[in-house]
Formats: sequence, structure tokens, C-alpha cells
Amino acid sequence: MTRAVTILGATGSVGSSTLDLIERTPDAFEVVALTAHSDVAGLAAAARRTGARFAAIGDDRLGPALADALAGSGVETGAGESALIDAASMPADWTMAAIVGCAGLKPVMAALEQGRTLGLANKESLVSAGDLMMQAARGHGATLLPVDSEHNAIFQCLDHARLESVRRIILTASGGPFRTWSRAEMAAVTPERAVQHPNWSMGAKISIDSATMMNKGLELIEAHHLFPVGHGRIDILVHPQSVIHSMVEYVDGSTLAQLGTPDMRVPIAHALAWPERMVAPVETLDLVRIGSLSFEAPDPDRFPALALARAAVEAGGARPAILNAANEQAVAAFLARRIGFLDIAAIVAQVLDRYDPAAPANLDEVFVVDGEARRLADELMEVKAA
Ligand code: NDP
Ligand code: MG
Repeated sequence: MTRAVTILGATGSVGSSTLDLIERTPDAFEVVALTAHSDVAGLAAAARRTGARFAAIGDDRLGPALADALAGSGVETGAGESALIDAASMPADWTMAAIVGCAGLKPVMAALEQGRTLGLANKESLVSAGDLMMQAARGHGATLLPVDSEHNAIFQCLDHARLESVRRIILTASGGPFRTWSRAEMAAVTPERAVQHPNWSMGAKISIDSATMMNKGLELIEAHHLFPVGHGRIDILVHPQSVIHSMVEYVDGSTLAQLGTPDMRVPIAHALAWPERMVAPVETLDLVRIGSLSFEAPDPDRFPALALARAAVEAGGARPAILNAANEQAVAAFLARRIGFLDIAAIVAQVLDRYDPAAPANLDEVFVVDGEARRLADELMEVKAA
């Protein structure tokens, strides 16, 4: 039986890894829709190769270019936010949510509202609108399969029917490229240096998040929504080798872990085939070669993003959406060389200090909060740059 699959964010790092798995087992999958933001050539090539029914480009000015690139292919095309939502709403057995940032939220909600099975990589959508997303998933009978490697590990180790038997969830973190660096050393880093992750090859935004450790903060909030054991029972542990992807500790003293080589195709394959297993073309985990695994506590002084995220999940309401939006703006500004590396967490902290609206009750209100947090971040960064 073939599985009909849609990939939101098909041209990115997670999207390409998903396509790689699908294209190696063409009999098992059929591609319904693919989306991108501006990479017309990448999207068109993937749509032709896979025989997708529909291709959507987020930037609506690029609609004609996409239509040209796919002329004669039989692939239907669309452009703009509404086309992304159309792509997510088309009937499919399985949808990969791999758009980066809160830009993925509306398509993700559209897929959930169709009661789809969704592989979730797009953590920012869950951080910004976790309560609404989980509510939509429950209300429409949708299934959320975590693709983020840590959450996929927890999903595999967790006794979902007995959450009360969980003592702790231990979210592992590589510590990023600056794990051993001082704040003074971090102050001068360039975007080129900061995107070089020691273990994982990923898109630019999440690579910067890993360097500031905001990624682990976002993942704490993500875990809180996916695995409701109480955020006070989710701990962060630095594990530089990225071999243990996370652990679940039970009240009887047993701790279960999921291990694998740091290759996103491992968690993607798990979610893609779930509840079955599929063959994935990944390196086998060679523990003899690795030799030893090490662990350390995270350093809150050098990585202030961790405490900001912890405070946001504790307070709830609009705080996680503000944290995420300010971070997205600050990371983009750092990548554009408008602010320094240490300014990223500082800007997020300042936006959180200045803006404290009521909890958003619906998606429109989430976007109001998101927009205002971005505007404030931009304003603060202009002051900084001046
Ligand atoms: P990339 O930057 O590599 O890819 C992002 C994808 O989203 C691309 O297809 C891009 O299109 C599209 N996109 C970007 N902006 C928009 C927008 N405004 N509207 C619609 N589509 C958009 O990101 P990654 O693959 O690294 O990450 C994707 C998500 O997965 C993120 O949320 C990240 O945190 C999460 N994740 C990633 C991991 C990884 O290993 N990379 C690991 C765990 C989680 P285009 O190419 O045209 O710009
Ligand atoms: Mg992760």
C-alpha cells in the first residue's frame, strides 16, 4: 500500500532529507503536494522528480516563475500563503511540517484541522501556539508525530498511557559550537562561524538557535506540549556527542534512551513509517569507534536563552509566542550582520520585559502577539544599530 505524502518546506534541510527517504522507496510513497518559500528551481525539480500533484511557493510574486518552471509537467501550481494552506489541506495520509518559523503555523493548523497525521519538525509553530495546536489535534483526531530528534526519541521511549509513572524527561543538548567558549569569545563570532554545528547539518536559523542554545529552550516548550508530564519534570542535559537523543526516567529508577547517529533521516524515517519501521540509508551507530559518551550540566550564565525559555513556559499565555517571535527577528538580524551574537538573547529578554499581553485565545490573536513582538524587536535593534 502506498502512503500519500505532503511536504511543507520541501526545499529545506528536513524537507530534502524527507524527499531523500521517499525517493529511495518510490513504491511505498506517492507525493501529493510540496511547498517552498522562494526556491522555485528546487521546488520545481522536486515536484517533477516525484510526480507531485501540486507545488506551492509562499512568495506570491514567484507564482509565474513556478508556473513557467513546471509548464508541461502536469504539476499544478499555486502561490502565496493561501496556496500553502491549500497544499496542507489536500487529502494525504501523512504530512511533513518542515517550514521554518511561525510562517508554518497556518499550514500546520490547516493539516491538523483535516485530522491528518503530521510529522512535526516546525517547532516554532508549537512554541507560539502550542495550546491551540494540541486542542486542534485532539478536536479533529489528528496525530502529531515528533520529528525533532529529541522529541522523536522521547516519543519512542515514553509509556504514553502511564505518564504518571514518568519521573523526568531528560532532553539532551549538544551544547552547540560554542559549548566551551567564554562570553567574551562569543561576542565577536560571525554568522559563518555560528552556523557550523559540530554534529548536525541543518538550516541557518536552527543552527544559530543551537549556538545560542535557544533551540533547547524552544525544545523545552515543544516537549511540554507534546508530553504533558509538567514542565518542571523536563530537564536539560548537555551531551556533546549527540548520540543519545533524549531519555525518559521512570519512578522505578529505569531510564530509557534512544540512540542513533546524528542524521535527521533517523527520526524522519521513524515518523514516516510509523507505526511500522522502514529501512533508512543511515550510518550504523558504531559505539566502539565513538568510545565514550560524556555529559555536563548546561551553563545558564553563558547561555541566558535557556532561562528565558524556562520562564516563558512557566508563565505560559503569550510568553512563548513573544519569545519565539523576538528570537526569529533577532536571529535574522544577526544573520544579516545587523546585531552581534550576544545581542540575540539580549533582544529577546528586552522584548519580553516590555510586552506582556493577555494569553491569545485564537490563532488571530497569536499573530497579533507575534507581530507586535517582532515590531518591538525591530525597534530595539534599530536603537542598537544607530
Ligand atoms: P531550512 O531553512 O533548511 O528550510 C526551511 C523550509 O521552509 C524551506 O523549504 C523554505 O523554503 C521554507 N520556508 C522558509 N521561510 C518560509 C516562509 N516564510 N513561508 C513558507 N515557507 C518558508 O530549515 P530546516 O529544514 O533546517 O528546519 C525546518 C524546521 O525544522 C525548523 O522549524 C527547524 O527548527 C526544524 N528542525 C530542523 C532540524 C534540522 O536538522 N534541520 C532538526 C530539528 C528540527 P525556501 O527553500 O524556498 O526558502
Ligand atoms: Mg532537536
